Amino acid sequence: TRVLLTGASGFIAAHILDLLLAHNHSVRITVRSQQKADALISAHPDKAHLIDVAIVPDINAPGAFDAALQSHPPFEAVLHTASPFHFNITRSIDEDLLNPAINGTRNVLAAVKQYAPSVKTVVITSSFASIVDAGLGLAPGKVYTEKDWNPITLEQARENASLGYRGSKTWAEKTAWEFLEKEKPNFNIVTVNPPLVLGPVKPYLAKLETINTSNERIRDILTPKAAETIKNTGTYLWVDVREVAAAHVLAFEKPEAAGNRFFVVAGRFSNQLIADIVKKDFPEYAVNIPEERLPLDGYPAESDAFYNGDNTKSREVLGLHYRSLEESIVDTVKSLKEIGA
Ligand code: NDP
Repeated sequence: TRVLLTGASGFIAAHILDLLLAHNHSVRITVRSQQKADALISAHPDKAHLIDVAIVPDINAPGAFDAALQSHPPFEAVLHTASPFHFNITRSIDEDLLNPAINGTRNVLAAVKQYAPSVKTVVITSSFASIVDAGLGLAPGKVYTEKDWNPITLEQARENASLGYRGSKTWAEKTAWEFLEKEKPNFNIVTVNPPLVLGPVKPYLAKLETINTSNERIRDILTPKAAETIKNTGTYLWVDVREVAAAHVLAFEKPEAAGNRFFVVAGRFSNQLIADIVKKDFPEYAVNIPEERLPLDGYPAESDAFYNGDNTKSREVLGLHYRSLEESIVDTVKSLKEIGA
């Protein structure tokens, strides 16, 4: 199958690219610079003939994807992962988070409609951020599913960077479903909605100092910052990046996936549990981890004082299997050691 993968230099997208190539799909990647394209191509010497490149410096620019979507042979699937995932606002929440997420999604869909009528499925990387209702707080007993939507408004999203990110994912996904309803294009949409994504980084892309946002806590638990990091919470559901990548590929390979949201969630976690695994499997980092564990209410992963997530649909429709937190953390730490941790 001929596939377009946007934001291919990202943490999750690099794993998606691995799988697409393993399944012998022909992939056009969009990246911001030729340097990033070269790193990705060099990492796959046996499959380099399956990759071609479109440089898209800013997904927010009008018509950003128009050239990328024009291809012979034509595309059958588009995987849109590119979207800002960070909390450092240098201009404004609109310019740094909301606009690229929302306009980027609209730009992809409009370009598919206009230039790639052969596309059957557009897979969009959405998020648990589009599902969770922060107003419900810890919500003991609540089990989030694909039916739940974050009620955040754009005004609320402008309050701070964290709400800005959640708003950007919620409104980007809403934009996609609204496009489908209003424009009635030839393609269907599938969204993949992961909570915090942990898992190994690619040594040819990642640097320890600028590690992707969702792995920052694992990097920090390996350092003298561990004690502080363990106390910080903020998010309590996780999934491994390899399950997230598999979901993106199955989303267009399996016709029964069409039109669905998939909440890909492995289960609950806490920073304390990550630290426990690090201490057990990598004793060389134990010196940074406090002897005493946090009191029980400090780690809801081990109590029922907190919401959970339901992954039934992803198991039944996509056939996903979820690996354990220990396997994920062990593989992540190994990959961080490779880049200097
Ligand atoms: P990364 O930061 O590693 O990837 C983000 C990608 O988007 C990068 O390729 C980045 O390019 C690209 N990008 C961002 N802004 C722009 C822009 N304005 N123009 C062009 N390209 C842009 O993060 P992840 O891999 O974690 O995120 C990938 C997707 O997964 C995002 O949609 C994110 O919201 C979603 N997600 C991630 C979760 C997680 O925990 N990791 C959880 C839920 C959803 P460059 O490399 O050049 O910066």
